[in-house]
Amino acid sequence: MRRVIIIGSGPAGYTAAIYTARAGLEPLVLSGERIGGWLTTTTEVENFPGFPEGVMGPDLMDAMKKQAERFGAEVTIDTVSAVDFSARPFKVSIGDRVEEAESVIIATGSSARRLNVPGEDRLWSKGLSVCATCDGFFFKDKEIAVVGGGDSAMEEATFLTNFAKRVRIIARKSEGELRASKPMLDRALANDKIEFIYDTKVSEVLGEDKVTGVRLRNVVTDEPSELALEGLFLAIGHIPNTKIFEEQLELMQGHIVTECDSTATKVPGVFACGDVADWKFRQAITAAGTGCMAALEAQRYLEEK
Ligand code: NDP
Repeated sequence: MRRVIIIGSGPAGYTAAIYTARAGLEPLVLSGERIGGWLTTTTEVENFPGFPEGVMGPDLMDAMKKQAERFGAEVTIDTVSAVDFSARPFKVSIGDRVEEAESVIIATGSSARRLNVPGEDRLWSKGLSVCATCDGFFFKDKEIAVVGGGDSAMEEATFLTNFAKRVRIIARKSEGELRASKPMLDRALANDKIEFIYDTKVSEVLGEDKVTGVRLRNVVTDEPSELALEGLFLAIGHIPNTKIFEEQLELMQGHIVTECDSTATKVPGVFACGDVADWKFRQAITAAGTGCMAALEAQRYLEEK
């Protein structure tokens, strides 16, 4: 039986692993499909302290993994299919395999939100993507669009101009009201290859076996239109990965509820950190901070036990 199992390998999971490993708790980190979490799909991270020149997302996550392993954390590429927190030791299932632990730290993060419009499922990975870093290369000299008005949309669109002929940003808010931060918005606005389409929603993704365009609707005038495209990227936020915890823990709008100023969930010995429990900040550094909190709280819980 393990003393601590950490589910997830983003900044929260790895920070929890570094702290619990240094405390001699020999944590098992079940990384999930995408080892290193969604930061591995970003390009440059400019706001993580300690990197005055910025750092590439995958490099940052790789360094965190190595740091955790240096102190004895075991990281395995496993996706948890079920958990049972109703009895002790806690049970964590990976398909048919069951791992047992005295405490569990949940750091499963969040997944890309989808549009839920016709054509989306059919054209998924056929010109429709949620990862510019992964798929941008396939759109050399093509006409593409990014949906969203937050920092992700600005970052993805700016990155995609390295490949595409033109990138449209389709935002449902009006000019001057986008959610993106000023520096990232300014960078996109200054890019000759980027054009903004405001007040507009995507109502359908068009194409049979590859994306050929989108059907749009102006949210102010309700006027429909069509736009020919060869690729479409979604950057419309993320939803917390909490499906497997629905029956076991208290959730609020999909996020795991934790006690005030703590990572403790309603089950003693189970802690939640990072984006899975954070509806407000969702930054790599805040995820790392709460990962540290979860590790210290798990350590204290085990000592008291
Ligand atoms: P956000 O939640 O900030 O923005 C989501 C965007 O998608 C909003 O513009 C929202 O529009 C739009 N949207 C949501 N649902 C739909 C829909 N169904 N159809 C059309 N548009 C939709 O998410 P981000 O992923 O952009 O950012 C998350 C966090 O990560 C932020 O804190 C951000 O600062 C940070 N981040 C930092 C980066 C960096 O520093 N390098 C890079 C990327 C992200 P509306 O405003 O109308 O709701």
